[in-house]
Amino acid sequence: MLPLETRAEITGLTSPLLVKLAGLTELAEGQYPLERMALDLRSLPRDAMTPELLDLRWGALIGAHPWEDVVPDGMLAQPWSSGRPVAALQGDSAIAKPGDVLELDPYRQRAAVRYRRGDNGNVLFATERCNSYCLMCSQPPRQVEDDWRIQHLCDLVDLIDATEPSLAISGGEPTLLGDGLASVVAKCSGGLPDTHLHVLSNGRLLGSTDLAKQFEGIHPHLTWGIPLYGDHYALHDYVVQSEGAFAQTLRGLYALEAARQRIEIRIVLVKPSLERLEALVRFILRNLPFVEHVALMGIEPIGFAKAHHAALWADPADYSAQLQGAVDALSHRGLDVSLYNLPLCIIPKSLWSFARQSISNWKNDYLDACAACAVKHRCGGFFSWVTPQWTSRAITPIELNLEAA
Ligand code: SF4
Repeated sequence: MLPLETRAEITGLTSPLLVKLAGLTELAEGQYPLERMALDLRSLPRDAMTPELLDLRWGALIGAHPWEDVVPDGMLAQPWSSGRPVAALQGDSAIAKPGDVLELDPYRQRAAVRYRRGDNGNVLFATERCNSYCLMCSQPPRQVEDDWRIQHLCDLVDLIDATEPSLAISGGEPTLLGDGLASVVAKCSGGLPDTHLHVLSNGRLLGSTDLAKQFEGIHPHLTWGIPLYGDHYALHDYVVQSEGAFAQTLRGLYALEAARQRIEIRIVLVKPSLERLEALVRFILRNLPFVEHVALMGIEPIGFAKAHHAALWADPADYSAQLQGAVDALSHRGLDVSLYNLPLCIIPKSLWSFARQSISNWKNDYLDACAACAVKHRCGGFFSWVTPQWTSRAITPIELNLEAA
């Protein structure tokens, strides 16, 4: 697991700064203004580190402890001599590399990776607030005023690679940004028109406001991931711990359909929903025929989920039949179906083609048992914070002959 934040000794800054980490390649490409880039001294060959290069109008200079390992002896004073911001990153040097976007925070003396080039799980984090309180929420909400994130995200979008294949927009509940969410998506359509944007929302605000209409035609590759946990209001409202949520989410889904949006339904496989999975699938097929994709997802064992293990956990080894039935019913009707967060050895082989490597690289790990497994390269593995309590009894390395079978 590669963390997204590290301690850093930061000087020359009076407020947080967002910068594109640059090596010689990014300098040569000239895609970003120098003042929005930070020269990554760690990435430079020593003979390329000239006073002229360091003297350019970089937004910041990035090094590591000890500086003597990064900068030639004769130039040790150089990073500080210009008075520009300087940050020495501590910990794992792989935490950030040229192409990534870093936020340097002089108050906390920390550097946070806001975009990691080549990662499969980059997120535009919209807000800490949420209007639901889901039993298995992996990011427990905080009711803080954070509308400042709208401008922050627009600034971040400026620094993300135009070739980035996909970004999630998540929170908290992104629609709480209101028009601000549409501004962020519009910003992406200018700078990232080829990037697949995936807004993860509970959909509850979309049916009672004009917000959904604002997304019609706004970005060519925009989809919405909306969770639905039951075919009955009481079940869905219980899982999201919010009275009225089921009706609001359905109204939101119809508002998105009216705005010609592409929709994925997300079902986290918690015990109460599993017990009515067949009915939920029937409900989706009958009432939401415009849905393109259904994702059936294993639980992320962090946040509120940890406090609700008994209410939520079902061993996937015990629900193979329900899972197979749901996938068959959905795929036979032409919907795309994906299984997220479910290792291969705990689902029937007939479902392997639906399983995705869905866990973001930075929080993805494997168990010791996986070392001997013939399909590790295509298995999604586990969240780094998985514990035995959240691990299926069926985990067994796949042997080579079984993989081929
Ligand atoms: S043993 Fe590990 S790598 Fe192999 S299928 Fe199971 S979880 Fe995946």
